[in-house]
Amino acid sequence: MNKLSTLLLALFGLGSSSACSQAPYANADVQAFSEFIADDVQLLDVRTAAEYAEGHLSGAVNIDVKQSDFLQQAQSRLVASRPVAVYCRSGRRSASAAKQLADAGFTVTNLKGGIMAWRLAGKDVTTDSTEVDVFRTPGGKVVRFYALMHASIRVDFDGRRLLIDPVRQLGERKADYAVMAPADYILVTHEHHDHFDQEAISQLSAAQTRFVANARCVEMAGHGQALANGDRLQLADDILVEAVPAYNITEGHTQFHPKGRDNGYVLTLDGLRIYIAGDTEDISEMEQLENIDIAFMPCNQPYTMTTEQLQRAARIVRPRVLFPYHYSQTDVSALPAQLRSEGIDVRIRHYE
Ligand code: ZN
Ligand code: ZN
Repeated sequence: MNKLSTLLLALFGLGSSSACSQAPYANADVQAFSEFIADDVQLLDVRTAAEYAEGHLSGAVNIDVKQSDFLQQAQSRLVASRPVAVYCRSGRRSASAAKQLADAGFTVTNLKGGIMAWRLAGKDVTTDSTEVDVFRTPGGKVVRFYALMHASIRVDFDGRRLLIDPVRQLGERKADYAVMAPADYILVTHEHHDHFDQEAISQLSAAQTRFVANARCVEMAGHGQALANGDRLQLADDILVEAVPAYNITEGHTQFHPKGRDNGYVLTLDGLRIYIAGDTEDISEMEQLENIDIAFMPCNQPYTMTTEQLQRAARIVRPRVLFPYHYSQTDVSALPAQLRSEGIDVRIRHYE
């Protein structure tokens, strides 16, 4: 190998990380890459939208590296403080993407051989483009959040499945619960159509499924367990649910969600604390929420909060990670920058 090609390899990171200590990012084979992405990393597919649609790694975000604004898009959708795992078809385009991202300050791992090698190794690909975020509990159990739509969240926790406010369709957005494995637990915050969908609940229900909701929804469904604000329910040794208040305080809006009727939920999964706010504004009861790791908070007018209110609520609750959800047409794109100085990692997912 001559000096020029060695230099090119180092510059473009085409060699293995051990052979090229100058490579600005790491390369991983299929096995190492698959272990790497099992944790809390940002998975990025840099192929075209058409290639992505044909099949991709579960949970991957798609940003085409051939687009002229690739880096700007990546910087707005990825957090620089979290590792990025990148792949393409063969490893060539992702090497270029990895180089650009590493130069922009990201810590990057590139999949050697791309999705071709991944498939050859017998690993799964999917056509489902639902975004997935992975966390670990203090005890080391894995929690995955799937952004289904608006207020509908799927949570896979250590072999069990929870669905929060599962709804089949809102506008163009659809979720197919009939093809999903049944839920172990279904939690509903209140009876509005963007939260409570009886057909979705029946599609997700099997003998073991427990349905938990506010009193109105339990009454409408004719089954389930009602929780009022302040109630706590131990669903399993490592799953605690607390119902917390969710209501409007702005004059002229209080009829949407009157105080005391609807629920937000705090889930404690093996020590990991998750706040699902429901339809609420920045109410004083948020000050009593402690040690929240992950928060889902709504942001749409006139039903819930403005972006200013959401920032206030975030400063009160102080989650490690904030998912704005239930945001419809509201522009939430400035929130990650607005809350960065607070140390809050804001992640925008498809919860419009
Ligand atoms: Zn509502
Ligand atoms: Zn709503």
